[in-house]
Amino acid sequence: KQPVPSDIEISRSQQPKPVLEIAEELGIHNHELELFGHYKAKVSLSILNRLQDRENGKYVLVAGITPTPLGEGKSTTTLGLVQALSAHLNKPSIANVRQPSMGPTFGVKGGAAGGGYSQVIPMDEFNLHLTGDIHAIGAANNLLAAAIDTRIFHEKTQKKTSTFYSRLVPKKKGKRTFTKSMLNRLKKLGINKPNPDELTEEEIEKFARLNIDPETITIKRVVDVNDRMLRQITIGQAPTEKGQTRSTGFDITVASELMAILALSNDLKDMRGRIGRIVVAANYDGEPVTVEDIGCAGALTALLKDAIKPNLMQSLEGTPVMVHAGPFANISIGASSVIADKIALKLVGKSKKSHVQNQEGGFVVTEAGFDFTMGGERFFNIKCRASGLTPDAVVLVATVRALKLHGGAPDVKPGQTLPLAYTEENVDLVAKGVANLCKQISNARQFGVPVVVAINKFETDTEAEIEVIRKAAKEAGAFDAVATNHWEKGGAGAIDLANAVVKVTNEPSDFKFLYDVQQSTENKLATIVKKMYGGADIDILPEAQKKIDMYNKQGFGNLPICIAKTQYSLSHDASLKGVPTGFTFPIRDVRASIGAGYLYALAAEIQTIPGLSTYAGYMNVEIDDNGEIEGLF
Ligand code: ADP
Repeated sequence: KQPVPSDIEISRSQQPKPVLEIAEELGIHNHELELFGHYKAKVSLSILNRLQDRENGKYVLVAGITPTPLGEGKSTTTLGLVQALSAHLNKPSIANVRQPSMGPTFGVKGGAAGGGYSQVIPMDEFNLHLTGDIHAIGAANNLLAAAIDTRIFHEKTQKKTSTFYSRLVPKKKGKRTFTKSMLNRLKKLGINKPNPDELTEEEIEKFARLNIDPETITIKRVVDVNDRMLRQITIGQAPTEKGQTRSTGFDITVASELMAILALSNDLKDMRGRIGRIVVAANYDGEPVTVEDIGCAGALTALLKDAIKPNLMQSLEGTPVMVHAGPFANISIGASSVIADKIALKLVGKSKKSHVQNQEGGFVVTEAGFDFTMGGERFFNIKCRASGLTPDAVVLVATVRALKLHGGAPDVKPGQTLPLAYTEENVDLVAKGVANLCKQISNARQFGVPVVVAINKFETDTEAEIEVIRKAAKEAGAFDAVATNHWEKGGAGAIDLANAVVKVTNEPSDFKFLYDVQQSTENKLATIVKKMYGGADIDILPEAQKKIDMYNKQGFGNLPICIAKTQYSLSHDASLKGVPTGFTFPIRDVRASIGAGYLYALAAEIQTIPGLSTYAGYMNVEIDDNGEIEGLF
């Protein structure tokens, strides 16, 4: 048997179709498409108006069991399933995936295009730059960071408020006029005077001075590189800054709130509103200061006017893929965008008009990063709340190797040879570890959505091992559990899985959220920990409690919650495999992404800019004299 070639070799051996052809097959009109070269295009949001009368297609979420550090194949399964649905079962279908950050691409993880014969192509374009959306977010975020520090500088150095006000709202053609964001700020302050010359001295003081407490600034500068040296920096060291130095740091671009907003916005207006609501700091009275107050919500949204449009690409088998947004799975939702999902659901949806070909209705398959307790739970409680959409089914990806790890096999590490327990048949370990899958099935079932388990087959898996998983999954309430071989065989290897998905999406689904957002933050945290993770209780540390109380006071007590923890255990402790119970879950800190619309709680110190290893991904990358890139895996 021939070994499966490397991902980039597979990607390169396939000549992609012109993206115009992919668009035509989906019924996207030329004027709704903006081409970026031959194989990538942006889809205009106006398409949602044209297709508003269509029904939505079926909406399928791919999530995972508690993984090994090698990854269990969620992206690969998303692509393989759509290839099977689309190219083999002739159901119009689209895979919606995230845009990878170049940090991990050049770090340990490598690209995120799927793998084997189930990938997005051209893989190098997908993994590097794409159409520049992440760069646009970086530009917008860094404009905001500059605006905040500059505002503090100007407020401190211009001591006389009347001078400061006359510079802030200058005269144009002899007349002062407020900008839109200034008017929004006045409204917030309850000052109903549209004419800048009518404000009293007291009102001017209230309006003009933001009095930002630099200690409370939550916005960091960002860069799309795993540059650990930027984790902590001092800014303002030039003499021109008059001693206004401040210790701050960088995050990776995809960890920014703007990236979460890109993923969660419903349209441009919604995005403009969310950006305005981002809380960047508190003033000296402890009140929140927003991007609207800083006055740059319009400019930031303008910088994102193209990023808001999803990117159309294709899979190895020429089936459509939408690539859009990629919020950091650690502290954010780890899912692609609401807008891409909405457009894709209409594109594959049944048309009521008889002359349109699309009579049957197809599928949108999208992925949530990390395991179900994180990606899946946030997808439902945060993303579905933002979009109003609910999936028809969950595909839960399981592997023999991850279940062996949960059954007690030794740890595995990327780049190291797998211990024997993984490469030889060991039904016993699988039988012990399958409890993790069963718990994740019941987790997904708590949302009232039916589950199909995809057993992502590796070369060394045996029929006896797979049978144990199949049986346990069905007993635990899965609609079906199907072995799938799309990594090796492409869509043809996932036909059984696709058939199961077609069937399950005809099952009734009775969606419900895990918690009511009106509950207290403490209650919401406890619900997630007890119901999803299987913990006994939560322990809110004093620092975290202080923040919860502050957010309550500021009026942010009724938001959904994103918990940042390890993905390598159902609990907060990566070494607890299988289904740990009885643990007390620590809440160390709570932070706010008010524009994106959630609070996030940290169970551990989370790095928001990763580092590079001694032997890093970038060392593999070469480009030949013809411009062909090698070494992206
Ligand atoms: P996830 O999305 O869950 O992190 P990926 O789909 O990125 O996982 O897969 C992780 C890695 O495992 C990728 O390098 C992929 O090519 C590889 N992989 C996935 N499925 C298989 C399989 N069945 N056999 C061999 N390698 C696989």
